Order: sequence, then C-alpha cells, then structure tokens
Amino acid sequence: MEIKIQEQYVTGGRARPGQNASGHRGSSILEMSEKAPVPACLACSMRMMLRFGEKVVNHWSCPNCGLECIFPQPDDQTLAGIYNSSYFVHYQSELDPEIVRAMKRATYKNQLRRLELGARAAGQKRLLDCGAATGYLAELAREFGWDAFAIEYSEFGARACENLLGPGRVYRGQAEEAAFAANPEGQFSVITMFDFIEHVREPRAVLEWARQRLDSQGVLLLTTPCAGSLSWRLMGRQWFHYTSREHLWFFSAESLRIVLEESGFRSVKVRPLAKAVTVGYALVHYARSNSYSRVFTPLARALDAILPAAVKRRRLWFYLGEIAVLARA
Ligand SMILES: [Zn+2]
Repeated sequence: MEIKIQEQYVTGGRARPGQNASGHRGSSILEMSEKAPVPACLACSMRMMLRFGEKVVNHWSCPNCGLECIFPQPDDQTLAGIYNSSYFVHYQSELDPEIVRAMKRATYKNQLRRLELGARAAGQKRLLDCGAATGYLAELAREFGWDAFAIEYSEFGARACENLLGPGRVYRGQAEEAAFAANPEGQFSVITMFDFIEHVREPRAVLEWARQRLDSQGVLLLTTPCAGSLSWRLMGRQWFHYTSREHLWFFSAESLRIVLEESGFRSVKVRPLAKAVTVGYALVHYARSNSYSRVFTPLARALDAILPAAVKRRRLWFYLGEIAVLARA
C-alpha cells in the first residue's frame, strides 16, 4: 500500500521525508488524505501542513518544530539536470571568478576560525568538506593547516576539487558512499557542510553517517538556511532560499537541533551566519532564470543593468537568514 502511494507521486524513488530507500524509518510515517499523502515531520514526527503549493512541487511545514520541506521531492533526473556544469555558472562567467572566490573565502575564513583551537588540540587534522563545489573551502582549510578532503556531487566541481587537493582526496557522489584512497579508514577531526544539508534527500541519514565518520572529539560545522529567521519572517514566499529548486529542506534552529541530537551529536551551538556578499553576486542570484521570485527577479535584473561595476564589487556582511551550527560527535 505504502509503495503504491510513493510510486504515484515520486518517480525518483527515495523521496519520503526522513525515510530511507526501503521506507523503514520510525519517525516518518506518511498519512493519507483522500487526495494526496501528507508527510510526517523528519524531526518531531508531527503531521506537516501545506505551506504553499506549486503545480508539481508542494512546500510543507511542521506546526510543532518549524521544519519545512519540499514534498514530493524532484526525481533524480530533475536534480541531475540542475547540478550540471551550469550550476556553477556564477563561478565562471556572470561575475569575475576572483571576486566570487574572495567573497566565499571571507565567509569560510570567519567560520573556520571557530575550529582552529579544536584542530590543534585534536592532534590529527583531517577535515572533510561535504558539498565542496569547486573547492574554495577545502583550499582554505589546507592553507589553515588541515589535511583537506572533499565530497562533491557534480562532475565539474569534483574535478576542480581534485585539481586543488590531489588524488585520493576527493569523492564524487553521495556522502554516505564516500571513500578516500588517502584516508582508507575514513575518519575525520572535522566535517564541514556549508549550504549542503538542505540539498540532500535524507538529512538524518547523512548526519548519522557524519557522526560515525568523526573522531571521538570531532566537530561538525554546518550552515543552512533557517526557517524562522528574520528574513524568513519578512519575505514570506519571496524568501531568498526558496528560489533554488534544489533546496529540499528548510530547517528551523529547533528542528535541526532535534535531528542532530538524535543522530548522536552533542553540545549543539546555533548562531546566525554572517555572509560576505558583493552587491553584484546578490543581483546575479536573483536575476537567474530559475528564480521564481516575481518581485525580486525583475528588480535584480534592472539594478544589474544600471549599477556601476564599482558598486557591484562592494563586499558587505549580511545576515541572510542562515545559521552556522557547531556540534560535537
Ligand atoms: Zn516537526
């Protein structure tokens, strides 16, 4: 019966919130209404409510802990189409790559500083970046003295990471299947997940995997958009992070804490994330054709056309509704 429901709505197979492929995860029972299945919250198991619906994609939220999700999730083919080389188009053509690099490095540097002390104390200094994109964080971590490893789903990004880190240190594919020739036991002192957990089909499985891959004193550093943040409250459906079709999860601080603790993490510390962003980058983000914001997209395109380059290069620190979470294994 359950399998029938799944097949009817999800062509990609593994899309029920919080469930693994075989569909046996206790906290995520689907309920049936007359017309469509209703997801149960990944964090607290509460029946979720439809927040708003698109023609094919529905956006749900938990009335108890504030977790939001896309259900049904896009199928594998749709996601693979999103994560092609043009996914990193802003790294390549729309903006000066050096400006984007400097911007990303400033944000990462700010966060990696939180780890430095832990790294020295731990003795072993292996850091794994999940969702490494073209490797800016891994590169920086290496400059900070870490032995850096990376996991990246896209071929384009994985190749860039390998050029930076060398052979045996980059895995292309899903995190839970990662293996590294340069670290056969697959243990790390730090795992970083910047803008990553909102992309994965099964966050709970990924966090449990990360917990197992960390040393006993290991640390997880994670950033993600935060449902319940100030910009989330102010912008409603036009919120920055809703414009990316590949975002499948929008954690509240509370729901993320629940899932982390249930995955075996402790000392979970949640902070608002300050991000270094140039004016030009913000405009390109909103002018992208896959954005569905009816207000900000035309506005961004107009500003992008008229603002002088010097203004677009300005780098400012913003709180863009994201959180940075530090948790101990
Ligand atoms: Zn919940």
